Amino acid sequence: MKIYSFNIENFKVDGGAMFGVVPKAIWNRVYPSDENNLIPLAIRLMLIDTGDRVILIDNGIGNKQDEKFFSHVYRFGGEGLIDGLAKRGYNPADITDVVLTHLHFDHCGGGIKLNPDGSFALTFPNAKYHISRAQWEWAINSNAREASSFLSENLLPMRDLGALNLIENEGELVPGVYLRIFNGHTRGQIIPIITYKGKSIVFVADLFPFRANLPLSYIASYDVEPMVTLKEKETFLEESLAGDYIFYYQHDYFSECSRVVNSPRGIRATEGFTFDSFLKELSE
Ligand SMILES: [Zn+2]
Repeated sequence: MKIYSFNIENFKVDGGAMFGVVPKAIWNRVYPSDENNLIPLAIRLMLIDTGDRVILIDNGIGNKQDEKFFSHVYRFGGEGLIDGLAKRGYNPADITDVVLTHLHFDHCGGGIKLNPDGSFALTFPNAKYHISRAQWEWAINSNAREASSFLSENLLPMRDLGALNLIENEGELVPGVYLRIFNGHTRGQIIPIITYKGKSIVFVADLFPFRANLPLSYIASYDVEPMVTLKEKETFLEESLAGDYIFYYQHDYFSECSRVVNSPRGIRATEGFTFDSFLKELSE
């Protein structure tokens, strides 16, 4: 198995929104904001090549929306989706499986592209797009709170072009890639756990957007059921400590990975490190 991590682009959101009830005077010390109170978020993707399957986890925002939409997103930097794949020797047609943690625009928009005639096409024409059934049904019958994150042009073409595979339950996608399901951030969020050289690497997605989100009360305002998130965090942090899991942060602009450790105040993240340094450590 080969695993790659790459950051396709960054964007910005309101800083307070990522920390819920935690006052700015506190969160701003660990995750600094700019003069407009915005904070940077990475969009990292993981690519897993098992030899006969090439699996991409999430695919970013994409490019289908209008200028007005993107004026609120503040995109900058990153390698790009197609360029990032190419740099590692892959074409979109090589991807056999796209795992979508959930259907908020910054996770799934890159999977559908706009043709010059206004019709839609699959960015990954040979891939199955895996989504939990719970998330699909939740997103299709959206609610006012998440409506601006569930964009129909990102969702419906996956179904209409025949790419959709709905995941009913937690389980193994392929040997070494296990899909877990969490419900606090949004209904049916998939959290992939990859077993690699005896280590468990968790693609923590929006369960722990940043390394700074490990304290139990540091829950984003976006979460639809914060008390469910709280319970999920508590249980999963215990499991992660016991299993010496590596957390891989999709959105943390400053830290790509960490481990978790016990502290007098609860389970906390270690210092951040890069995914490449972790792979290097494993090969030594
Ligand atoms: Zn989300």
